[in-house]
Parts: sequence; structure tokens; C-alpha cells
Amino acid sequence: HATKKKMADHLRKLEAMFTITPQRMRMIVEAFKDTLEAGLQKPAQVVPMIPTYVFGWPTATETGEYLAVDLGGTNLRVCLVRLTGGGKFEITQSKYRLTEEQKQEDGQKLFDFCGECLKVFIDVNIENGEITKGKILPLGFTFSYPCSQDRIDHGELIRWTKGFGAPNTEGRDVVTMFRKSLALHGVPAEIVALTCDTTGTLIASHYVNPATKIACIFGTGCNAAYMERVGDIPKIAHLGIDPDAQIAINCEWGAFDSFEHEHLPRTKYDIMIDESSNKPGEQAFEKLISGRYLGEILRLVICQLIDEGTVFLGQNTYKIEIPYSFDTAFLSLMESDPTDELLMIIGIFTHFFALETTLAERQFFRALAKLVGRRAARLSACGIAAIVSKMGYLEEGCSVGADGSLYNKYPGFAERIHEGLQDIFGEKGRNVVTHHAEDGSGIGSAIVAAMTKIRK
Ligand code: ADP
Repeated sequence: HATKKKMADHLRKLEAMFTITPQRMRMIVEAFKDTLEAGLQKPAQVVPMIPTYVFGWPTATETGEYLAVDLGGTNLRVCLVRLTGGGKFEITQSKYRLTEEQKQEDGQKLFDFCGECLKVFIDVNIENGEITKGKILPLGFTFSYPCSQDRIDHGELIRWTKGFGAPNTEGRDVVTMFRKSLALHGVPAEIVALTCDTTGTLIASHYVNPATKIACIFGTGCNAAYMERVGDIPKIAHLGIDPDAQIAINCEWGAFDSFEHEHLPRTKYDIMIDESSNKPGEQAFEKLISGRYLGEILRLVICQLIDEGTVFLGQNTYKIEIPYSFDTAFLSLMESDPTDELLMIIGIFTHFFALETTLAERQFFRALAKLVGRRAARLSACGIAAIVSKMGYLEEGCSVGADGSLYNKYPGFAERIHEGLQDIFGEKGRNVVTHHAEDGSGIGSAIVAAMTKIRK
């Protein structure tokens, strides 16, 4: 009984810590808007608001065969995309898992691995008749880490995110590095465009749903992109581009509130994650939202309860004490467990952590998952609201293409974003609707490659 009361007390405290009120959300939105504006004004701001050199929306008449390579946070994906016009496409793809070691080894070696996988993929597709032998295919490279670009086929990595730390890469042009790897493995491909998954998602979503004005990714990391008027980007005024032209902006909004930590309500668990991360201070917004961290937040709360002797007394807890051992997918499973006994949660704890749980503990863990998941969705709503408000999209309404495992698989994530938007904007918040986006790093990257070729 004493334990039960202790847990109830804990839950109340945690609820207070992880709940974000509508008023607080509106304050975050205002600060977020100012930060987005600052990023457009001057280079090298906290949220860098990167011009992507993708000009305007696709017309749905883009056609041809393209390769797309996506160096994601968890996987490497290579695709063959056939754009057949009229907004239609076919896609063939392979995925390769990246190991933690690969993310930390020399950058050139990482790109060499990508080149090697692409070579294997092309060879297989030549064999089965999908690709014509001897043909050099245009390639769209999706590299979803902040890069500074001054043209579409070039990009210097500003800094690694999402747990990557490969040395000899920051500050260098990743297209040049990847071209070197393609040459090394004799890959018949020409890199024509460098994009990030978010920009690709923006373009691909608009390709099939022209009401799309914003794209968001909620995966290992978290980011957004939208289309901005060149004349409203003072920091590129010197380039002499037509001020009425539209250019896609890769916000890199995961960096919002980094270093100063003025605006986002961080709990002690968030601070622990930040301080023990390989990039303390950075990606402050992302660390509260993205798939890489949500499981870890929950794990840290559980570890504290273990230390206090509130849960798992007398059991060997070494497995759950391993950092990042608690996958965010477990939160999804816990929240969606349909049984009264919470059998799914029993399964997770016995199978992955060799721990027995009581029903009260399982209910507690589920409530905790809900707090962490709900906070992530509501903070995501703040980011979306900042762009909507800045661009004046609220009255006419807009569609937000969203992708990533968190958005696609976490039960209720989209509903919680929509709820958050109404908490911020009132009834009018209903005018902003998220929908599952088209595959940005495959289809989107191919469309961007096609748009680039048409412009040339
Ligand atoms: P990436 O961002 O690497 O391109 P994803 O969009 O698949 O790829 O995101 C992977 C992240 O999503 C990981 O952090 C993982 O923990 C998390 N994730 C995977 N499956 C689920 C799920 N069912 N529910 C919530 N999060 C998940």
C-alpha cells in the first residue's frame, strides 16, 4: 500500500512536470516565431532557417528515372524512383541498418559504405532488368543533418545531430565526399541534388496534395520545412535572386531554445539527457520530442524510481539501467495495450529487461508514457503553430505533411498535435490539419532531382 501511495504521489508530480498548459504553449509559439524570423535575418542563428535552393513547388509534370539515397538516423535507404508524370511514381528500394560504430567512425568511411550499398543495389537492379546497364542515373541525396548550401548540389555539414559523431565531416562538403565514394566503387550515378528529408517531404506532399504548405518529420530527429518568399529572407538579399521567387526553407527547428534554454519547460530528466549527450546544449527542442529521446526520458524516470526503491525491489535491474535501452517504440506499445492486465507491458519488461511488474506498476508506466508522448506532440504543435502564424496561414487553413515513425506509429500522436493546435489558436486551430506525407527521402528527393534537371 505504501508503494502504491508513493507511486500515486510520483505520478502527480510527474504530471505537473510534463504538462504544458495552453497559455504556456502560446508563449512558446511567440518565442518560436521570433526565432524563425531571426534565422531568416542573419546567418548562423540558433535555428538556422536554411535556404535549400529548391525553388518553388513541383508542377506534377516531372518525369524520368532517378536514384535516391537517404542517410537517415537509423537506416540507410537506397531507392530507384520512376516518375511517370501526372503526380504518379513507382519505387523500388532497399534498406541497410547503420550500426552505432558506423555513426562514429571516420566520415569518409561512412560515405564509402553508402556508396558500396548503392553499388550492390544498382547491380541487383541491372540484373533484374529495372536499370539499363551503362546508364548513368541522376541521384538525389537526402542528408538530413544541418548543412549550409549555396547551390543545390553542394552542402557543408554544419554539425552532426541525431547521435552521429563521425569525425572529419563537420565543415566539409558532403556531396564532394559522397562523390568520392561513388567513384571509389564505380557507381554509375551522378549526384544532382542534396536535400534533407524534410524538404523532400514538403515537395513530395505537395506533389500529391497541393494544399500542403508545411512539412514536418517526427522520427529519430525532428524538423520542419516550408516555402518562403526570397524577398522575406534578408540574409540572402545579396544573391540577387528575384524577390518574388519562392524557396524552400529547411528550418532545422530541432535547435530551438538550444544553449539558452529560456523557453521550453525542461524536466530534470531532460537536463540529464542533454548533459550526457554527445552534444550538450544543442538540439534542445528535438531532445524533448524526437524518437531518439522519448524512450530514454521514460527510462530515466524508471531508473530514479529504482534508485529510490519504489519499483523492482529485489530484482536485477541491470538491463534497464543501460542508457538508451528503452526504445520509443515501447512507449507506443505501452499506450496501445488493449488488455486490462496490460499484457503487452508485461511482455516488454520480461522479454527485454528480465523484470517482473505488478499491475500497479504497469498502469503507472503507461500513464508515464502518455505524459511523455503527449508533451512531445503538444510541443510539436507549438512549432507548427509558429510557422502557421508567421506565414498567416491560419485563416485560409493549410495542410501539414508529416512523416517519421513517431508520427506514423505512435497512437494518438496526430490527434494530440491537433488538440494542441486548438489549445493555441482556439476553434481556428481546426483549419490546420496534419496528414501522413508522401515519402520525402525517396519520392521527394527524386522530384527535387527532376526539378533541378528541368531548371538546368
Ligand atoms: P529516421 O528518422 O531514422 O529516418 P524513423 O522515422 O523510423 O527513421 O524514426 C526512427 C525513430 O522512431 C527511432 O528513434 C525509434 O525509436 C522510433 N520508433 C520506431 N518505431 C516506433 C513506434 N512504433 N512508435 C514510436 N516510435 C518509434
